[in-house]
Amino acid sequence: AISLVSFAGWLYFGALADALMVAVAVLIVACPCALGLATPTSMMVGISRGAEMGILIRNGKVLERARKITTVVIDKTGTLTHGKPSVTDVISQTEGRGRLLSYAASAEFGSEHPYAKAIVAAARETGTAWASPQQFEAMPGKGIRAVIDGEEILVGTPRWLMEKGIALSSYQEEVERLSEEGKTPVVVAVNRKVYGLIALSDTLKESAKGLVAALHRMGIKVILLTGDHHGVAQIIAHETDIDQVISEVLPTDKAAKIKELQQAGEQVAMVGDGINDAPALAQADVGIAIGTGADIAIAAADITLMGEDLRRVVNTLSLADATIQNIRQNLFFAFLYNTILIPVAAGWFYPLFGILLSPILAAAAMGLSSISVTANALRLKSFKEKTYIPGDYHGRQL
Ligand code: ADP
Ligand code: MG
Repeated sequence: AISLVSFAGWLYFGALADALMVAVAVLIVACPCALGLATPTSMMVGISRGAEMGILIRNGKVLERARKITTVVIDKTGTLTHGKPSVTDVISQTEGRGRLLSYAASAEFGSEHPYAKAIVAAARETGTAWASPQQFEAMPGKGIRAVIDGEEILVGTPRWLMEKGIALSSYQEEVERLSEEGKTPVVVAVNRKVYGLIALSDTLKESAKGLVAALHRMGIKVILLTGDHHGVAQIIAHETDIDQVISEVLPTDKAAKIKELQQAGEQVAMVGDGINDAPALAQADVGIAIGTGADIAIAAADITLMGEDLRRVVNTLSLADATIQNIRQNLFFAFLYNTILIPVAAGWFYPLFGILLSPILAAAAMGLSSISVTANALRLKSFKEKTYIPGDYHGRQL
């Protein structure tokens, strides 16, 4: 429209050649190339910079959400901890320790759970023999049920066994004591009678404490979400300065907890690694999977972090911030060129200053605006990883 009006105006006051020149110059300079480039170029560069830092971002849209995050929810096993627990205690008041471990290892042999692997490894180390179960059933977030030679073996959380009506009786105190030491108590019951306890402990990642500190500095609240025993979760939260603990949550309820937070007005990022985290990763505004975790967690997440260093969570959030800011700068540049140069091309400044934009210069200016937008986007290449996070936490056995 501006081009047509300019054409008519120039035709009225001047020659046809001038009118044509002005009309074409306006058309060229108004072409919103730079505007079209502004967003995708920044996203592309931001995403590729992320990949260099071991942050795999599925699409650009998630960056917009990532910079608005107010709460980060972190899974415990395998995310905040290494996820390679080991057996620390084997306690039985009636059976030999070897016998207890043998029952547990027989039941756990087929399970993928890190605790199952730790129990089988402990049996292997101590030279304990085990049998293979005839029946085998995993209860996500609870434990395992197996039948061996007609004996029903349950290995799982104290809570699950109590739900099944199996009394912990004299082991109750041991459960409390172990969890206060930061160990996860797992109960072994044979034919609905408690035979003993196995305690497992995992090590915190070196980057765990630094992650929480850095998130706090960004004004973000940190919540620990785990299926593990309350006492253990509390200790880890205390060690790492985590604000809130949601523990003894079944895998099926993890997503519901995220939803509750969202309904309370929080923008939630979930960081997790396990099969049990997948629904929560999908529910969260931003799902971040740890690359060493389960495939389904990675599939459900928007972002996958390579390796197990948690500093990448902070880098993800600041990269998102830098990318969105870069897009805004680009949009500003793109609009700036068009808004300044359209009136010049239309010949508004001709009567006063004799300034006119020839179509050739208009084309050059268009090119320049695209170049400036692209060049600005490329600045994201030099986005610096945050180095201020102290790596002062050396995998202490909890
Ligand atoms: P997290 O949320 O920390 O990743 P899970 O949901 O996998 O933990 O498990 C929650 C709890 O259920 C564990 O702390 C453990 O006590 C118990 N549990 C789950 N599977 C097993 C198993 N195969 N053997 C023993 N205990 C188990
Ligand atoms: Mg986990």
